[in-house]
Amino acid sequence: MGNEKQRKRLLRILDMVPSLKEILLSGSSLEVKRKRINDCLSNMLIATFDDDPAIPPLEWVLTRDAITAFKAMLSSRSEKLAGYSLLRYIDDLLHGRSLEDDEKPSSGFLAELEHLFRGITGKTRVYSEKAPAFVKYEGTRAAKLRSADLSRMGRTTQEFLNRYSCGLDDEVIRARSKNKARILKYFGATELEWEKWTWHTKHIIRNADVLNDLVKLTDEQYEAVKFAREHKIPFGITPYYLSLMDYEPGQRRDDAVRAQVIPSIDYVTKMKAFREISEPSMDFMLERDTSPIEGITRRYPMIVILKPVMTCPQICVYCQRNWEIEDVYSSDAIISKEKLDKAIDWIAERQEISEVLITGGDPFLLSNARIENLLYRLSRIDHVERIRIGTRTPVTLPQRLTDALARDINHFHNPGKREIVIVTHFEHPYEITPQAMAAVQKFRRYGMEVYNQLVYTFYNSRKFEASALRQKLRQIGVTSYYTFNTKGKEETDDYRVPIARLLQEQKEEARLLPGTARTDETVFNVPGLGKNYLRATQNHDMISILPDGRRVYEFHPWEKKLALVDTYVYTDVSIYEYLKKLRAFGEDASLYKSIWYYY
Ligand code: SF4
Repeated sequence: MGNEKQRKRLLRILDMVPSLKEILLSGSSLEVKRKRINDCLSNMLIATFDDDPAIPPLEWVLTRDAITAFKAMLSSRSEKLAGYSLLRYIDDLLHGRSLEDDEKPSSGFLAELEHLFRGITGKTRVYSEKAPAFVKYEGTRAAKLRSADLSRMGRTTQEFLNRYSCGLDDEVIRARSKNKARILKYFGATELEWEKWTWHTKHIIRNADVLNDLVKLTDEQYEAVKFAREHKIPFGITPYYLSLMDYEPGQRRDDAVRAQVIPSIDYVTKMKAFREISEPSMDFMLERDTSPIEGITRRYPMIVILKPVMTCPQICVYCQRNWEIEDVYSSDAIISKEKLDKAIDWIAERQEISEVLITGGDPFLLSNARIENLLYRLSRIDHVERIRIGTRTPVTLPQRLTDALARDINHFHNPGKREIVIVTHFEHPYEITPQAMAAVQKFRRYGMEVYNQLVYTFYNSRKFEASALRQKLRQIGVTSYYTFNTKGKEETDDYRVPIARLLQEQKEEARLLPGTARTDETVFNVPGLGKNYLRATQNHDMISILPDGRRVYEFHPWEKKLALVDTYVYTDVSIYEYLKKLRAFGEDASLYKSIWYYY
């Protein structure tokens, strides 16, 4: 699109609000324009509190949200934080000032503005024309009509949930048993060996050719795995997890499973470049600045993270700790005894710490004896009332969760005094298998809770996909705990999802499930500080839209109103590009049409 074309489209968008268009086209200075636009938007905002029968009441709410967001974006404070002036940019475009190629407005930018102006003028088309029939009646008549509407909604929800195959489906169980037989034959191993976790760790698949023999890879997957190994980027898949993949690529239903562990070319090339220069942005959560002593990370008053081991049986591509994990299942990733002693003493000296999260890495890669010893030492500290163990082994290596391990851990689970909690990491219903369920049940049998932390990536972000996971998790005894925004790490761009989609998912999908299956909190993890609850809109502001269509947000720290800690500025991924990718994935983008109205 040439500049003139973009200018014309912008003028058409501005036609929706002639008063703003007139101000923007005037010859006044930028500061005068800012003041006049602000006054104009303030008057429009006040008008939304009056009654206008021509506009449905809920459309008013969207108008109010859009005006408030636009006002925030035009403020000089937002400009300073974002390092860019949206107002100046629009002004330059309208007055035909020349722009460098990389400054030209993208389709994503114009789509954002168009939806913003639709919001401001009450023309979002989010709601159907007619109000539901039940609102006109009372009593049983209203109840029956309402019930019919709810049934329709429930059936639609169910249809969406049914789209996603689960590892507990009979047909999937049969397919996986064939996969297992194929893998066993390849390694010349027995069923008995398959049940031993050490057999799986010994046979972790690290090589592109072996992998390609066992499941068919796309050319890109093959190249990416090869590149990863050549450049020492951690890569590996346990034979068990491999059995969750369908043999042929492009089946869609195992996309999330493949993407979980098989990197993209973009990821491996960026990782190589970052590793060569020790790029600090890889440590997105600023662990270096929140680790008072080796092996400990602290972001909250009463909880600490203890990291006894810095490796996993396989590495999730988007892992926030990819900068400190050297290799898959590597023996030198265990913290030394001396350092672990110091870390435990450090916890013992701090009375206020009531909860320890043992993670890493995956602590269940330690031997039973080491795990028992660690729990014994922590349980001797009176003020430690809860020990959480963060592990993805129920998903990647359920054989690890033996009766003996569960029994050993249960010795330290002492209700009323000290609780042991398992926190795991299922990403997709396709990962839920009879073996995973049995592993979870080993802990539940002893009364230990099992929670799930979901990382919301492109590969589980389709309509109701995360809800399908939460439903199934509830059925196998796992409580959904957190849904995390993918960290804003450049190398994981292929996985990132706009903040607006997380908000939309919570409001329009998760909300339709029974409360027992939507127990999680959706969070954005603020580097160096910790979790920001996304649903609480007062905890973040949208402060700009960049020419490439990416939104800029300001996140408030959890300490807001408690301590004077600074806010954090974050550049999101573009909604337009995300929808484009969904379309390429076979999704109907119109199902996501309200995404633009979440700020
Ligand atoms: S299980 Fe956790 S620590 Fe291990 S690779 Fe995945 S995200 Fe990283």
